[in-house]
Amino acid sequence: MFRKLLSLDEAKEVFKRNFLPKPVGVESVPLSEVGNRVLAEDIVAPLDIPPFTRSMVDGYAVRAVDTFHAEENEPATLEFCGYIAIGELPTVTVKNHTTAEIVTGAPLPKGADAVVMLEYAVRQDNTVLIHRPVSAGEKVMTAGSDIQKGETILEKGQISHSREIGTLAALGITEVVMYKRPKVAVISTGAEIVDLGEPLLPGKIYDINTFTLSAAIRECGGEPTSVGIIPDEMSQLKRALKKTLTMMDMVVTSGGVSVGPKDLIPQVLNTLGKPGIIISGIAVKPGKPTTVAVIDGKPVFSLPGNPTSALLMFYQLVRPQIRCMTGAYEKAPPIVKAVAEKRMFAEKGRRTFVMVKLTGDKNGQLIASPAALGLSGAITTLAKADGFVEISEDQQFIDAGDEASVCLFNPEINREGRKIGVSSSFTRNDPA
Ligand code: AMP
Ligand code: MG
Repeated sequence: MFRKLLSLDEAKEVFKRNFLPKPVGVESVPLSEVGNRVLAEDIVAPLDIPPFTRSMVDGYAVRAVDTFHAEENEPATLEFCGYIAIGELPTVTVKNHTTAEIVTGAPLPKGADAVVMLEYAVRQDNTVLIHRPVSAGEKVMTAGSDIQKGETILEKGQISHSREIGTLAALGITEVVMYKRPKVAVISTGAEIVDLGEPLLPGKIYDINTFTLSAAIRECGGEPTSVGIIPDEMSQLKRALKKTLTMMDMVVTSGGVSVGPKDLIPQVLNTLGKPGIIISGIAVKPGKPTTVAVIDGKPVFSLPGNPTSALLMFYQLVRPQIRCMTGAYEKAPPIVKAVAEKRMFAEKGRRTFVMVKLTGDKNGQLIASPAALGLSGAITTLAKADGFVEISEDQQFIDAGDEASVCLFNPEINREGRKIGVSSSFTRNDPA
């Protein structure tokens, strides 16, 4: 039967009409476990940071006015009035023409409004010679100057990386309301696929997709669960999918979606619930047999078995949904501009993705070289590629020397790209 394939854009539209990705709930998470998770509430500072006015240097706390006339060779002479200990309230008050020794991070004593660095002061018994003037506020961090109590310091939808975690710790926040991670099941299919750790008998290959897809799910904020390898057999596939759907928010399968006699996934998907299959093949290369179903409100993405095709279609279709379900702000994928090293051809009428590796030429220009044209099954393609170039349905090729936008698999550029100090020669639209 001849059926017109949906274009990638049409497929995305169809999906949108059938499934609205949204967060799957919230939970309170201890600070030690919030890394890479998404805030489900705005964080309002419960206190000032710093909580008290403190010295930024080791030196002498002074009244700035007492140092105004100080010069290198004609120092101001102040009376030593004591030490300011760190970690407690000062007992000393700095009066006219007196000074107290202070360390970095200690509270500024009453009366003082600036600190002279140790390098510009000389203590002689009970006097301190100040060789440089300071202005009021110098080398002092005022209470609330970093964060003010009541200020919204982090926003709902932000991902908590180390910097955000530092802010939460500074504020003494021990529990944070985060979005739950969407639970995504990963199923590999095929009689030839064996689990790692098993002996590799003749005709068998190790399961790659469980590992690549699980890692990709984790990278975009989902919680992957490996269901394992299911043989190409109707009742086993049906049972596995049915059970998985009850426990998970989404299912990603690989293999068994082509037109071979053992490609049973489409048949199975149409027996599990409504509406069933909504996308049955997409005009892309690689990834054409990609099949998508929605079963009683839960999406099932059935990707082709070729590891490169599976991962590429994951990036195109699955990743954006998982990201929305994590509650994170929508972020544009990381894209860099490069120059095509060779002519890259498109498959007629299909949106074509060419895996490329990035290198830098001597001028710091990024060069995109096809990792392995056309070999969608070659696993080394994945290992060599930094990202992919997209060629639209109506374009024949990207010529050697043309500008090519490369969508990166990871925001960092790998290997040679990094060695050439990429920061000056590429722009990316990833705000992080
Ligand atoms: P299929 O889509 O099931 O026809 O598989 C296409 C190709 O990908 C075949 O060569 C499979 O052996 C291979 N393949 C399928 N699933 C996996 C997997 N989980 N890991 C590695 N290769 C796979
Ligand atoms: Mg198969």
